Amino acid sequence: MDSLDNLAKLFARFPGIGERQSRRFVYFLLAADEQYRSSLAKQITSLRAHIVQCPSCYVYFEGAPKSMCSVCANPKVNLKSLLVIEKDADYLSVKKTKLFDGRMFLFGGLVPIVEKDTRNNIRIDELISIIKNRATSEGLEEVVLGFSLTPQGAHTDQYVREQLAKAWADSPVRISSLGRGLSTGTEIEYSDSETLKSALQNRK
Ligand SMILES: [Zn+2]
Repeated sequence: MDSLDNLAKLFARFPGIGERQSRRFVYFLLAADEQYRSSLAKQITSLRAHIVQCPSCYVYFEGAPKSMCSVCANPKVNLKSLLVIEKDADYLSVKKTKLFDGRMFLFGGLVPIVEKDTRNNIRIDELISIIKNRATSEGLEEVVLGFSLTPQGAHTDQYVREQLAKAWADSPVRISSLGRGLSTGTEIEYSDSETLKSALQNRK
């Protein structure tokens, strides 16, 4: 295997990128000027040097080690509500709307409908313990499940509800879903402010 194949293989691991697209990336880089290539390589190498993960919501952001993100660290944040979303891009979309004043929690993925071992990439255990802790010590009253309104998102919504009920039978925390305010097929990441606004207001 030559270096062209090797690099293409690395690109093929990107989400949503197939073999053909990964080859196009390689040819693009071959034709690009040296400065672009070395700048790209440098940025990739140093990516984790200043980017940390918020210990409270798991979002990646630029900050000091062990510091919390601007949403979680905000002294005015509404501790009664917690919005559970799938990924970093959803966090940015919600933050941009300025319509949700509580903390968020990045679930880390969606639960596959067919696969049996679902616990690999998702933070269900972390979520359950955060809900228990915050309901007892910080006055958390409501958890809003903000997964995309796709079959997998709906499946994840159901899964989280079941796991929460199993882990804490008489929980006083209210569980609602953002999905009911969105139309079928909607992904949080691509929703505009107005759509997210009505979804947040109509959570059930
Ligand atoms: Zn955070």
